Amino acid sequence: MADHYEVLGVSRDASPDEIKKAYRRLARELHPDVNPGDDAAERFKSVTHAYDVLSDPDQRARYDMGGDSPFGGGGAAGFGSFGDIFETFFGAAGGGGSRGPRPRSRRERGQDALVRVTLDLGDVVFGVHRDIEVDTAVLCETCDGSCCQPNTQPVTCDICHGSGHVQQQVRSLLGNVVTNAPCRVCQGYGTTIPYPCATCQGQGRVRARRNVSLDIPAGVETGLRLQLPGSGEVGQAGGPNGDLYIEVSVKDHETFSREGDDLLATLEVSMPDAVLGTTTTIDSLDGTVDLEIRPGVQAGDVLTIKGRGITPLRGSQRGDLRVGVHVVTPTRLDHKERALIEDFAKRTKAPAPKLAEFHQGLFARLRDRLRNG
Ligand code: ZN
Ligand code: ZN
Repeated sequence: MADHYEVLGVSRDASPDEIKKAYRRLARELHPDVNPGDDAAERFKSVTHAYDVLSDPDQRARYDMGGDSPFGGGGAAGFGSFGDIFETFFGAAGGGGSRGPRPRSRRERGQDALVRVTLDLGDVVFGVHRDIEVDTAVLCETCDGSCCQPNTQPVTCDICHGSGHVQQQVRSLLGNVVTNAPCRVCQGYGTTIPYPCATCQGQGRVRARRNVSLDIPAGVETGLRLQLPGSGEVGQAGGPNGDLYIEVSVKDHETFSREGDDLLATLEVSMPDAVLGTTTTIDSLDGTVDLEIRPGVQAGDVLTIKGRGITPLRGSQRGDLRVGVHVVTPTRLDHKERALIEDFAKRTKAPAPKLAEFHQGLFARLRDRLRNG
């Protein structure tokens, strides 16, 4: 048995690339479809086997240590078909195995489907259940995905005799070679359908509306896509389903907005309530919340109600509800009210308006709130 390195004409420390190049050159020269001599066939076998061993790092290491069975030690040695050679040189051509020696399958995976769902902010707090209608491809019940009229079957293609391929002689850089091309009569399936199912026009599937029951988790945001594996379109000829994607869109709420897992709202407080303090009840997105407003609350103060925000998508610790105080200054005073306020102003000797220090001002508090939030 000749040494594999000698067969390929490379040194023992040849790189994988050098080995591949050597094999490519010899295979072009010796392939039985190009070079019909018996001697060439034998050499081609040896070359292919040597390449099988030396192109696999594990097998090459074992060979270098003296272990190698002459043939079949590392898998199928011997004649590769031209398809194999082309795959070795150029990578597998065509996606999904549509080229190659076997007929292609009619069964194909179905496409993914996308459905958009609009939610209220309240749905996001705890998550929500939805039944949605999906317009999609479903299995044809008449033929059960076989594509054939009931009680009929596909028949073997007359042209390619079931292989899905026909041989063509083409000129190439290797000389005149015989190569496989997909059969045009059966589109490579190897069979034809003499009586296609009338319901699905021989596709094995039909379009239909389908109800999908869906649990949307809490904490989702606009633009998020949920994936439901296997809930998309059924494949051709009863092939496996694609996936269904649900794209979420959350409507703006007239009172609450969202910041991370917190909910933000503004509370209008009358001037007397701001001065004297009060208790009130507000409607949060999940029921009522009692709120105490301390005497002397300032415009821009933020009241935090722990745990009344949004349940995050990952985790269970709810965010907070943060309520910013907006003090409403009275605008229409009658004669008596005006007199009271003027009296109040005289008694308290309220200072004239002046600029506050920045860190006590509204904008600093807004900034801090954004930083902390
Ligand atoms: Zn059908
Ligand atoms: Zn055919």
